[in-house]
Amino acid sequence: MDGKLAGIIEQKFASRVQFDCSLKPYTSFGIGGNASALLPVETQDEISWLLSLAKEHDLAWQIMGMGSNLLVSDEGFDGLIMKLGTAFQQIALSSDGIIEAGAGISLTKLIKWCQSRDLSCIEFLFGVPGSAGGAAVMNAGAFGGEIGAVLKGVELVDGQGVRHLEKDELEFSYRCFDNWQRFRGVAVITKVFLQSRQGDGEEIGRRCIEIARWRKAKQPLGQPNAGSFFKNPPGDSAGRLIDAAGLKGRQVGGAKVSEKHANFLVNTGEAACGDVMELMKIVQAEVYRQFGVQLEPEVQII
Ligand SMILES: Cc1cc2nc3c(=O)[nH]c(=O)nc-3n(C[C@H](O)[C@H](O)[C@H](O)COP(=O)(O)OP(=O)(O)OC[C@H]3O[C@@H](n4cnc5c(N)ncnc54)[C@H](O)[C@@H]3O)c2cc1C
Repeated sequence: MDGKLAGIIEQKFASRVQFDCSLKPYTSFGIGGNASALLPVETQDEISWLLSLAKEHDLAWQIMGMGSNLLVSDEGFDGLIMKLGTAFQQIALSSDGIIEAGAGISLTKLIKWCQSRDLSCIEFLFGVPGSAGGAAVMNAGAFGGEIGAVLKGVELVDGQGVRHLEKDELEFSYRCFDNWQRFRGVAVITKVFLQSRQGDGEEIGRRCIEIARWRKAKQPLGQPNAGSFFKNPPGDSAGRLIDAAGLKGRQVGGAKVSEKHANFLVNTGEAACGDVMELMKIVQAEVYRQFGVQLEPEVQII
C-alpha cells in the first residue's frame, strides 16, 4: 500500500487502523506475515467507502471473519484487511422465527443466544470457531447439517451501498456458497437471516455438550489449526485417505499432520506458511499416488 493511500485511510479512521499489522494473532493457525493495514469497520457506510476507495486505487483487500479457515502467507498481505467490528454482532428475532444476525457474531454466541430462547437453528455447528459471515461463505457444516440449509437471505455491502440476496438467489454446495463467487472481492456480508424453529433450550444445551465432547476427543484442539484442511472427496473422507496413506505424524518444519485427526494440519509452535504448503503438497501427492484421489484444500489461502 503506498504512503498516499495509507494517509487517506489514516485520516478517516485515525487510531482504529493498524498499519503493518501481524496477522498471526488473528488466525486460528497462528501463521502468517503482516498486512499493510488492518481495520475493524463499524458501519455499512465505512465498508462502502473503503470498497470504493479500493476500486479507485486498485488496492487489494480482504474481509476476515474469525480467521478460523485461513492460511496467511509468510509474506503477509499487501493490502487492507477488514474485520467486522462490534456493530456487526447484533442479533434480533422477527415474528416468523427468522433470526437476523450481524455477520461478525461468533457462531458460539449465536447458538447460545438461540438456546436461551428455546430456538433450534444451527446448534450442529457448536464448536466451529467462526463468525456467521464466514460460516455463510464457507457453507459451514457438521453432523449432517449445513448453514446453507437454514439461510433465508444475506445482506451485503458493496461500493454502491447495501443489497439483499433472498433465499431464491442463494445456492450452496459442499463447503461453498456458490453464488457468492460473483461477489467475492467486491462485497462484504454484513448480516445473515436464519430460519429457526421452536426447540427446547435444555435439549439444545445437552446436544452442544455432546458435540463439544466429541470434538475434544476427535480433534487436536490444543494445537493451532484451521479445522479440516482438505475437503472430503465425494463418497470418502480426506482424513481416512491421509491416515491410510500412512501420513499421520508427517512433519515439515513446524507443520504436522495431526496424530489425532489426519485431516488436521497443526502448527506445532513456529510453523511458517511455507511449511504448511510443503506438507500440503506432500499429502496431496502421496494420497494421489496411493489412491488416485486429488485432495483439494478447504482452507482459504491468502
Ligand atoms: C478447530 C476447528 C474446527 C472446525 N470445524 C469445522 C466444522 O466442523 N465444519 C466447518 O464447516 N468448518 C469448520 N472449521 C472451519 C471454520 O471454522 C469455518 O469455515 C468457519 O465458518 C470460518 O469462519 P470465519 O469467520 O473464521 O471465516 P474466516 O476464516 O475468517 O474466512 C473464511 C472465508 O470467508 C470469508 N469471509 C469471512 N467473513 C466474511 C464476510 N462477512 N463477508 C464476506 N466474506 C467473508 C473470508 O474472506 C474467507 O474467504 C473449523 C475450524 C477449526 C479451527
